[in-house]
Amino acid sequence: MTEELAQTRHLATEIPGPLSTAAMQRRKDAVSGGLGMAIPVIIKCASGAILEDIDGNRIIDLGSGIGVTTVGNSAPRVVARVQEAVAAFTHTNFTTAPYMGYIEVCEALNRMTPGSFAKKSILQNSGAEAVENAIKIARHYTKRQAIVVFEHAYHGRTNLTMALTAKNIPYKDGFGPFASEIYRMPLPYAYRWTGNPETITEDALKIVTTKIEKEIGAHNVAAIIIEPILGEGGFIVPPKGFLPGLQSFATDHKIVFIADEVQSGFARTGDWFAVNNENVEPDMIVTAKGIAGGLPLAAVTARAEIMDSSHVGGLGGTYGGNPIACAAALGSIETIEQENLVERARHIEKILFTALRAIAAKHPEIGDIRGRGAMVAIELVKAGSKDPNPELMAKVIKYCQSKGVLILTAGSYGNVIRFLPPLVISDALLNDALGVLAEAFDVSA
Ligand SMILES: *Cc1c(COP(=O)(O)O)cnc(C)c1O
Repeated sequence: MTEELAQTRHLATEIPGPLSTAAMQRRKDAVSGGLGMAIPVIIKCASGAILEDIDGNRIIDLGSGIGVTTVGNSAPRVVARVQEAVAAFTHTNFTTAPYMGYIEVCEALNRMTPGSFAKKSILQNSGAEAVENAIKIARHYTKRQAIVVFEHAYHGRTNLTMALTAKNIPYKDGFGPFASEIYRMPLPYAYRWTGNPETITEDALKIVTTKIEKEIGAHNVAAIIIEPILGEGGFIVPPKGFLPGLQSFATDHKIVFIADEVQSGFARTGDWFAVNNENVEPDMIVTAKGIAGGLPLAAVTARAEIMDSSHVGGLGGTYGGNPIACAAALGSIETIEQENLVERARHIEKILFTALRAIAAKHPEIGDIRGRGAMVAIELVKAGSKDPNPELMAKVIKYCQSKGVLILTAGSYGNVIRFLPPLVISDALLNDALGVLAEAFDVSA
């Protein structure tokens, strides 16, 4: 067992240090140039909210590996269950010879996801694969083909999910042709909504439902899929009433309403799922990222009749619901429950908003602060306008990195800084990171 790392920031060298810099040449020679990199250091070990690199720098992790290590890196319950599982067996394929871990994760999902109706689940390897399965199942169930998606959406990088995703660069450019029967609708993005802010929800619902009825025909729509808080699009929170309105339209037209909770789920937003906030009960919910403490696992959970509509053998995959990933998920769920991490996310929201408002009071380039729980973002603009300011974003992020704070970006206009800390981060560590961020604005803006 590795010793738990001190939960403090520490700079042993410059970032990147000499060992990371040397390793980057090997990365460049061996690894596809198509992969990006947020911070040019090589990680040696990690624990809680700290990443330690091979030069001995301890970096505060405000990204959780893109919202994955919600329970902290190498969380003790995850590690213990994984060690036990890997020693017991590594793989059988669930559709060859089943095992309890898979069943238990499905039971937990069916119990925890919103909706008092009977539910069933399947497990996959990645968010994109789960989204693909969700669409496939919804089409089979409804015997319809059209899929409704939204502006600023991100649903993955496979062929179908690229088509569902909104942003061209970097996700889609040159990677087509894309799947057909996908229809993109306007999203009520409050900060950039040009209509009346007072009636944004009604107006947006009217636009979307009219477009669906006139341009597709509601009876042709298999599913409406939406992220309850948009992730890569820049943590856009749909205005209150929009998700319930969409859900009731879907219900009226026998359309499967799918919540893509891959980024917003698993305690991240201060509820188990972001849809809990408005008591929305999606017909289908897609989860991944925060589900298994870092091991690759994803799921589709839906009304039992939808999940049972596919013929036997119609669903599956070699690795989906791997026993070690299932053990990790059970350890992760147990950690969220035992350590009250749902509550903790709400506490983190307060710390984040307080600190970010204080920075914004000095820096008019922070045009918007938004999000919920430990899923919070700031949108950067040129002072006195709403013109995106990706240049300032890059400077701020770079400064934070140089001081040992890892922060991720997002946004359709490349101007959003997003905060996705592990929920186990201490107040002291989070405040230390936010102090560095404040400094970054002082020196960059
Ligand atoms: C990350 C993400 C996906 C894709 O998940 P992968 O595991 O990267 O395939 C899908 N939907 C949302 C909302 C995401 O944030």
